Amino acid sequence: MFNKLKEKLKSWFSSAKTQAEEQEKVEKTLKKESKPKIKEGKVEEKLKKIAEKATVEIHLEPSLDKQLRGETITEGLKGIEQEIKPENKGFFIKLKEKFSFKVTKEYFAGIWENLELILLENNVSLKAIDQIKENLEKELIGKEIKKDDLEQEIKSALKSSIENLFVESFDLIEKIRNSEKPFVILFVGINGSGKTTTIAKLAYLLEKHKLKVVLAAADTFRAASIEQLSLHADKLKVPIIKHEYGSDPASVGFDAIKHAQSHNLDVVLIDTAGRMHTKENLIKEMEKICRVTKPDLKLFIGESITGNDATEQAEKFNEAIQIDGIILSKADVDEKGGTAISVSKVTGKPILYLGVGQRMEDLKEFKKEEIIKSLGL
Ligand code: GDP
Repeated sequence: MFNKLKEKLKSWFSSAKTQAEEQEKVEKTLKKESKPKIKEGKVEEKLKKIAEKATVEIHLEPSLDKQLRGETITEGLKGIEQEIKPENKGFFIKLKEKFSFKVTKEYFAGIWENLELILLENNVSLKAIDQIKENLEKELIGKEIKKDDLEQEIKSALKSSIENLFVESFDLIEKIRNSEKPFVILFVGINGSGKTTTIAKLAYLLEKHKLKVVLAAADTFRAASIEQLSLHADKLKVPIIKHEYGSDPASVGFDAIKHAQSHNLDVVLIDTAGRMHTKENLIKEMEKICRVTKPDLKLFIGESITGNDATEQAEKFNEAIQIDGIILSKADVDEKGGTAISVSKVTGKPILYLGVGQRMEDLKEFKKEEIIKSLGL
């Protein structure tokens, strides 16, 4: 995941450094030309002003005033550095820092333009991009950065900006163990997003943690969906509750819960028809399933490769039924990773797992530290 974005960011960091060097060159030339010459009697006043900015006090010998007449401030200061009293040494250190690189609004605008493009190209949503920009501006503009630290400083600002986009996740297994039996999970998402496969993977994971599951084939709409889930149930050797195609999905869910109660099972996993978030009657039907089955958790399954589409779908499903969490499938074939970066910010809900392949074992707990790491940050 993120291969493409990572590479792009890497070259962006070094271009940010080059851009800083170029800006610094221009600023230096301008400073040299426009620096006012020190007039008699003004040395102390000027130096004190600089000292004030550097938040140190300075005590100058009156003789210095004469000595520095006619020099530019910078040159003048260099000249007296040798003669300065030890208690004023800190001032020169601060002063040197002042000549390190300062992130101006103009410099930020320059590097941001490139970064924004990279983020857009890699499926990061506009909302997430706006947030990243706001955070970066807060962290960087006006900051004095030593030239050697520039890349690292920008990197760490971007790192915390992206970290801020993720909603803190929770441990699903723990949550199930600490809840009343059976724990009911409803899966929503559009067709082909990997819903059925993800249900099977989660069933596999829960069984591995000694939690007994039952599947509910409540997608009574799409041809072959019941058979597909039944195949998974056979392979996993877990029970499945199914009705006829066209029957009421809410009653399939209801029956599965009854089955779990009478067999002392821990978790009910309810598949639903992959509806478009725009189809109002289907959304209504899903509201009915929620009313009848009262799920403890509503999980949205989205395909991470579809980028902004998946983010938008998650937003719409969240508006309709208030999802509790997200699983992104097909992260193994997603080079860009923008959905993972955006979807939490847009919905305010955590990503719990990533689907990373077609095998039962290919469900990985989502850890933001790993995402940050795979971005090279
Ligand atoms: P549904 O229509 O939402 O139930 O989607 P399916 O579960 O049938 O998945 C659609 C296709 O995506 C199938 O071919 C799955 O094998 C594949 N798929 C699901 N999850 C993953 C994943 O994490 N990685 C990869 N590479 N393929 C996946």
